Amino acid sequence: MSAAAWVVPLSDLAVDEELRGAVDEAVASGWWSMGPRVQEFEAAFAEFVGVPHAFAVSSCTAALHLALLGLGCGPGDEVITPSLTFVAAANMIARVGATPVFCDIRGPGDLNLDPADLERCVTGRTKAIVVLHYGGVPCDLAAVQEIATARGIAVVEDAAHAPGASIGGRMCGSVGACGCFSFFSNKNLPVGEGGMIVTAEESLAGKIRLLRSHGMTALTWDRHRGHAAGYDVVEPGLNYRLDEIRAAVGLVQLGRLPRANAARAKHLERYREILDGRLGLSLPLAAAPPGAVSSSHLAVVLLPDGVERDAIRAALAERRIQTSVHYPPIHRFSAYRTRSTRPLPRTDAVADRMLTLPLYPHLSQAQVELVGSSLLETVEAELSRGADAA
Ligand SMILES: *Cc1c(COP(=O)(O)O)cnc(C)c1O
Repeated sequence: MSAAAWVVPLSDLAVDEELRGAVDEAVASGWWSMGPRVQEFEAAFAEFVGVPHAFAVSSCTAALHLALLGLGCGPGDEVITPSLTFVAAANMIARVGATPVFCDIRGPGDLNLDPADLERCVTGRTKAIVVLHYGGVPCDLAAVQEIATARGIAVVEDAAHAPGASIGGRMCGSVGACGCFSFFSNKNLPVGEGGMIVTAEESLAGKIRLLRSHGMTALTWDRHRGHAAGYDVVEPGLNYRLDEIRAAVGLVQLGRLPRANAARAKHLERYREILDGRLGLSLPLAAAPPGAVSSSHLAVVLLPDGVERDAIRAALAERRIQTSVHYPPIHRFSAYRTRSTRPLPRTDAVADRMLTLPLYPHLSQAQVELVGSSLLETVEAELSRGADAA
């Protein structure tokens, strides 16, 4: 079904003159590859997150790949990550030849990784930990850092959900060795495809800079401006650069991020008022822990036991309300089933009950009310159908 066919799509992009104008200007400049707009976007993003270095890249997956390569993760190393996340981090861990080790979540009220279980995952071969801030709710970074620092393990923040989220006064993405962000269309800072990797560590920044662009010592843009005549290749690198047109979109979206996150938070709070505690429903991502600010990326509802998620999703789709599931746990996928041996009881306990509701800044109040009341009606109908059958 096309987005236009939904009364309430899961996600939606707001397009206006300012965005079109920024794209037009970038196109008209005649320089489309990485150049001044990318540099401006990087500088603005670095300032926003509060780190000295930000590198625009082609996706968050590319950022995660660069992070793991930059930290020297490879064959023989283990990298710990939650199973309840998007698969990109695990894919990159496996892709660099390291072994992903999946840790459990805290429970139905906190979908972020459990530091106690994280500690049980640590071995002498643990090289790094990739944490997630689930739905924009910061994970317990202090506890993670304490476990990691004592053992010389690097922390990578998969901050794909968390631009603008903070904990203890520090922006998500700025606390670990590096932070990886996504600008995919349904994320808080949508560009289409794109990402950013940020770090305060000079040596890591140097490696990322090289690996992002073929391992070359000078950029095309520098040579174009006559700043460099030739170049050397000091490491077999990649091409994970962002282009000027998407950087132009990113700059506009970054300026809108605080207001967009606030609008998301308002809608999520209304969902919580309508749904939390009703008919056994709960919203684990509706509140951030003390001292933390969420970026309100996802409206995840936990359905009560005994309700078929597929039936609820089908009933909502019939009302032209689009839903999704964030996320099917990684340890259940074909590519990872045989690699994963640890029991993850708390992940398994919520996995089939999670349902993601529509959430984007320009949702109308009426749409939020419609989604809320429709979910209550469909859950109630399912519960009474179940009771009739029993
Ligand atoms: C979207 C997402 C990614 C991947 O981002 P891309 O920019 O699409 O590569 C990685 N991790 C998480 C948690 C995500 O939600």
